[in-house]
Amino acid sequence: VLPGRYIGRFAPSPTGPLHAGSLVAALASWLDARAHGGQWLVRIEDVDTPRCVPGADALILHQLAACGLLPDAPPTVQSQRSALYQQALDQLVVAGWAYPCGCSRKDVEAACAARGQLRQRNTELVYPGTCRNGLQGRPARAWRLRTDKFIRNKALAHIPPAQAAINSVVSDVLHWSDRLLGPQQQDLAAAVGDFVLRRADGLWAYQLAVVVDDAAQGISHVVRGQDLADNTPRQIRLQQALGLPTPQYLHTPLVLGANGEKLSKQNGAQALDTRAPLATLNAAAQVLGLPPQSDIPAMALAHWVNIWRSRYAA
Ligand code: GLU
Repeated sequence: VLPGRYIGRFAPSPTGPLHAGSLVAALASWLDARAHGGQWLVRIEDVDTPRCVPGADALILHQLAACGLLPDAPPTVQSQRSALYQQALDQLVVAGWAYPCGCSRKDVEAACAARGQLRQRNTELVYPGTCRNGLQGRPARAWRLRTDKFIRNKALAHIPPAQAAINSVVSDVLHWSDRLLGPQQQDLAAAVGDFVLRRADGLWAYQLAVVVDDAAQGISHVVRGQDLADNTPRQIRLQQALGLPTPQYLHTPLVLGANGEKLSKQNGAQALDTRAPLATLNAAAQVLGLPPQSDIPAMALAHWVNIWRSRYAA
């Protein structure tokens, strides 16, 4: 991170209007940017087109504006940036990091069952690396990133020395530090396995798009919900593989639904009430441990920026 050059972002998926949970991430990322005297960008993450709702992008921008959260540049839209994602995938393939996978979901499940890995609710299967050494005559479906120590085997030969130097410092357990949660670690190969960069349906995976865009936009600080914290090691590994800088991360507390899980449309999240922006902002601020305000929203925001600065930007 270049000193003094702070660029932050809020990156909503337009799968519906903002709710109380997503506003917490929006507010925290805005406060962090303002507290650092930095820029705040909004990026519409619409790569998962089947889950996107027409008009949700405009609605989200309207909701943010009603709460006084205005981006410093016109929003970027991921569906217009496929060429960048393709370039990144090409680079990973040439360097030996990415490979085509011919497995269907059934194939993966069968391979995992054979290894005694049972499918659990809310838990993605760890891909056992079936196609790492070739497709065995099957057509390519998805593209995956290697998480094993491939650098020690034949792939080394194809990697230019500069890249190999970066790769060889890549360890098994990935360590990173969250500004709020503190030191974190994950054994990528064991916990996640070779993960998807481009899906079998041709859509770009969130992990690749988010890493390419954070770098392309010069994002120095990522502030987002804690549900995404365990995606961070995948994103750091991708940054290493692509030779991109790693931003600083801060993951905010989640708003829980009635069933104790992260608030979502499925468990009763309501669209924000933007006719009462102060009450709406106060609710989000409370989750972030900021005191309620009774002034107009602009004054409330200014007050919270000062508190945020003393906590996270001192
Ligand atoms: N688009 C993702 C979401 O809405 C957030 C991505 C991010 O902040 O890294 O859950």
